Formats: sequence, C-alpha cells, structure tokens
Amino acid sequence: NAIIKQLASVETLGSTTVICSDKTGTLTKNEMTVQEMYFDDYSVKITGVGYEPKGDLHFEADKNIVSIIHHKGHSITMKDIKKKHPDLYQMAEMVFKNAALCNNAKLILDHGKIKMLGDPTEGALLTMSAKAGYGQDKLSKTHKRIYEFPFDSVRKRMSVIYTSKEFKKPIAFIKGAPESVFPACTHILKNGKVVKITAQDKKKFQKLNEDMAKRALRVIAFAYKEVKKQETYTEKEVESKLIFCGLSGMIDPPRASVKEAVALTHKAGIKVFIVTGDQGLTAEAIARKLHIVEGNNVRIITGKMLDKMSKANLKKEFKKHKYIIFARVSPSHKLSVVNALKELGEVVAVTGDGVNDAPALKRADIGVAMGITGTDVSKEAANMVLADDKFNTIVNAIKEGRTIYTNLKKFIFYIFSCNIGELFTIFAAIILGLPAPLTAVLILAVDLGTDVLPALALGIEPAEHDVMNQKPRNPKEKIMTKPFIMRYVYVGSFIGLLVTSLFMYQLYQYGWTWGDSLDKDSLAYMKSSTTAFAALVLIQMVNAFNARNPQHSVFKIGVFKNLWLIGAICISLLTLVIFVEVPFVQKLLHTVSLSPKEWMLIAITSFAILIVEETRKLFLRIKH
Ligand code: ADP
Ligand code: MG
Repeated sequence: NAIIKQLASVETLGSTTVICSDKTGTLTKNEMTVQEMYFDDYSVKITGVGYEPKGDLHFEADKNIVSIIHHKGHSITMKDIKKKHPDLYQMAEMVFKNAALCNNAKLILDHGKIKMLGDPTEGALLTMSAKAGYGQDKLSKTHKRIYEFPFDSVRKRMSVIYTSKEFKKPIAFIKGAPESVFPACTHILKNGKVVKITAQDKKKFQKLNEDMAKRALRVIAFAYKEVKKQETYTEKEVESKLIFCGLSGMIDPPRASVKEAVALTHKAGIKVFIVTGDQGLTAEAIARKLHIVEGNNVRIITGKMLDKMSKANLKKEFKKHKYIIFARVSPSHKLSVVNALKELGEVVAVTGDGVNDAPALKRADIGVAMGITGTDVSKEAANMVLADDKFNTIVNAIKEGRTIYTNLKKFIFYIFSCNIGELFTIFAAIILGLPAPLTAVLILAVDLGTDVLPALALGIEPAEHDVMNQKPRNPKEKIMTKPFIMRYVYVGSFIGLLVTSLFMYQLYQYGWTWGDSLDKDSLAYMKSSTTAFAALVLIQMVNAFNARNPQHSVFKIGVFKNLWLIGAICISLLTLVIFVEVPFVQKLLHTVSLSPKEWMLIAITSFAILIVEETRKLFLRIKH
C-alpha cells in the first residue's frame, strides 16, 4: 500500500531515522463519535458508535441525570426538555443547530447503512445532532445558508451564516478548536440569557477542555451571534464578539495495529514525533495509548512556542527530550520541524495531507502523502503515497527499503566474490606456469549464463528476520565498506583456490607434469578446463547460500526460504549439464563430458565454500 514515486526514494526510505506523523487518520481511525457535551451548568453523555444516529442522550446537572432522550421509544424529546428545562433547551438547541448547520459533511443511506461523506469531525457532529432530533434534512428545509468561511488548519475554526423564519436576524454559527473560539467570545448563553462572559466561566470551560483532552477526546467549541443582513461579510466582523454556547468532545479511537508498528520503530532505532493540529493533551493521550511516548518526561511544543523558538533552540529540544509532541501546529510549523531535524543529520519521513503541507513534504527526505484523504497537491509533492493512509504502511515501507538495500549487497557480494574467484584462478595459473584454466568463452558462460538467475533471485530475498532490529543505516555510508570488501575477497580467494586445486588435480590425473606444454585439444586439457568450469559454476551455486546473509548461518535462516533462488539454481544446474554434456554445445564451448566420479568430486569440493563462509560467520557471531 505504499506507492513510491521515485525509485531512488527506496534507498532513502531504508535509512529513515525519524518519522513525523500526523495524528488524525494516520495514528487514529478517523472515525469520530461525539461522546460528551458541556453547557453552562449542564452536560450530556451520548452513547452509540459510528455515524449511525442511534444512541441515547443523558442530560445531567451536577452529575444527576435530569432527562434522557432514548433512541428507542422516543418517550422524551427536545420538546419535553423545552417545557421542563427551558434554560437547558435553549443552550442545547443552539449547539445542536450549530453542529448540524455549520457543517459540510453528509450522512447518506447506502444499501441500508449510513455512510458519511466529508470530514469525519463534521460527520460526528451531524450524527450527534441527529440523535437529538436535529436531522440535516429537516433543518435544511427551514434554514438557508447565505455565507461561509470554511475551516482551515491555521484558523482552526469555521463559520457560516444562516437565515430562517425562526430567527429575527441572520445568525452566524462558529465552531472550532477551543483556543481558537474562546478568545473571540465576549458573551455566554447562561440560564436562558445572554450575559457577559467572566474570567471564571472561561476558566471553567478551559478546565473541561483540558479534562477531555487528557482523555484523548477531540474538542470542538461552539459559539454564535446575530449579524446584519449584508451582501458580503468579513471574517473579522463575523468571528468576533461571539456568544459562547457549548463544548463537545469526540473520540477518535487509535488504530490498534499502530501499536505493533510503533514497537517495531523502537527496535529499529527510528524516532516517532506526532505533529498535529489537535491539542497537546489529546495527542499525548493517544501517543500514550500507542506507546509512542512513555513516562512523565514528555515535552509538548505548540505552534505558538515554535513561532517564538529559534532554530538553535529547537535543535536543543531534540537533543534534550526523547519524547516530543508538536501540537496545535499549522503546516508551516511542520517545515521548521523538518528543517531542524535535517540539520541534526536525521533522515526524516514526514506525513501530510493538505495543500499547505507541500513545502514540508518537499523538504523532507521522504515526503509521505495520504492516498485517501490527501489533496492532489500533497501527493504531487510527496515521494511516497500511502494508499491506505496508515502509519503501519510507512513502517512496512521502511522495512522494505532496508530489505532492498541489504539484498543489493547480497547481489553485489555474490557477483564480486565470483569474479574475484575467476581472477584468482587465472592469475594463479599464470604465476604457477599452468595452462589457462578457463577460456574466455567459459568465463562468459559463467558470467552471462549460470550466474545471472541466482543473482537476480538474491535481489528478491525475503526480509531478514532481524532487519528491523538494527539501527538505521548511515545514509553516507558507502556500500563498499572495509568488512564488506574483505568478505568477498576472502570468499573469492577460496573460490579461486578450490578451482585451481581441482584444475591441477585433473591435469596430473591425465598425465601432465609441471613444465609440459599442453595442446588445447588434448584430453588432459579439455578434462581439466571443463572440470574447472563446472567447479566454478557449482561453487557459485553453493556460494549463493552464503550470500543470503552476511552474519547468520544459512541453516538458521532456512535453506528453502527463498524458493526463487532454489528455482534459479535448478535452472543454472541444468544449463551447466547442457554446457558440459550435450555434444553440440560441447563443440561451441570446447568442453568434454565428465565421468560420474568427476562430477562427484566437483560436487563435494564445492560444498567446501559453504564451510569457509560458515566458519567466518561463526567467528563473527562469537566476537559480537
Ligand atoms: P488534525 O487533523 O491534525 O487534528 P486540524 O488542523 O485538522 O488538525 O484540526 C485542528 C483543530 O481544529 C481540531 O483539534 C479541532 O478542534 C478543530 N477542527 C477540526 N476540524 C474542524 C472542522 N471541520 N470545523 C471546525 N473545527 C475543526
Ligand atoms: Mg484534520
């Protein structure tokens, strides 16, 4: 489910050291349900899950239930509440209307099931109002929208203006993050009256807000005011001097599977920072549930703090705190976070969905866009698109990136060790004064014939079991490190040694002695060079198993784990037999048939290369 847009990103992906992740939708399910509401002196607990408007509303005052609207039965409705508790009614109606009208989502019936279209936050609010009897369809018949200031993640609020026969004047409904709505409120709806809001009121609702946030609820504040009927409005005149009327808290359950992915990132030495538009406490509560942060040393940095913070200080924060949550940030802050991390030498993957996220996505080493909720602009700017919007997919992609890199090294080890083997064999023959063990045609037969398929199969080797237990690779590290070079020179030399030995053994078997010149068409030469060729090919087949892991025994990682390799080896062996035993091909390659005894000898010798490399691996493991 991870779509990589540039092939080169795969390599970067494997060396990712930091993931900056959105919260809503990436770490959470983005299926919101309003559970709590607070008015002055009253609160409401709401039951039900999902967007289906099925659930009860328990109205409480001082923790005593004063009224219940049951989904089933409909014994009590808002009309009854109007008679019994007119003050509560007025506040509740204002909020329910606000939630349903200041809203661009839709609930539709699809094959007998309710489906939500639009922003999940708004969908949840629609459902809440519908549970109270304020359905979208009903309201839209009597209320007409004449103006809108849409939600954006910098203002963190949205407002609409409606006219209706029920209103004396047009009413502006505003909803948004509490920090965004509170400061704009000068009045409050209280005991059925609009009165000046006091510092005490603000404190009370601030506390309710924090309390909900600590319980991982997403909080929305509601306010309204009457406005004059005009052609156009400015944001300033509409979103100021508001009358506060209530708070709602909605759950957005964390995705259960994220926990495992987070555990994997911890093991893999990858840090995860949440960068969210939501409140710090809500983000922290979610982060705790997913084990992204632990203990009491969690630093919350808000967008406002970031505005005042110098880059040097931000870098200090990263050095000082293991767990940091960036809350109430707008997309431009994301860019500063990415910049600071990059200057610290981190390889940063950052997620984003909005248009404004594009600069951060571009600046990051790996920009990750959301396939479902993301805008086209963000997808365009990203290196990778998550088809399912899930955090786990990022981690899986990193694992894949690491695997591709390790497989690249396996492939290179395999090819290089073989070539060193060939070089060794040829140079040894020159130095020792032997006839040439391999003709040019035979070398080509190895390089282009029998070696190719196993090498390709190594490229698609399954992920090593411990690929995510290792620290991220230093992106500046070269593929050709000293231990890597030494390893293939070591194995390559043994390949050369084994081939040369067999070649010499065969020469002596067929009566050659040192110093003799040898006719290229003599049986002694043909037998010896064919043996050298067959040995080189067979040793390479065995060596493919060596190449599968630089550290662990092939018997531990499972000989038959990579069936592509087994298949490739079978085809290569068949090719070898054809090269050596089929008369027509013999003429082309200048080979002769080998006896079963000779084949046996070659087969046994080739397994020696396994022992050579397994011994090295054993010593390596003992040393660590
Ligand atoms: P995130 O999706 O990371 O939580 P957003 O920028 O979308 O960040 O939202 C920031 C805050 O704005 C939310 O915590 C919420 O209080 C408020 N909010 C979100 N969506 C809406 C909306 N459609 N209308 C009004 N307020 C909203
Ligand atoms: Mg959002």
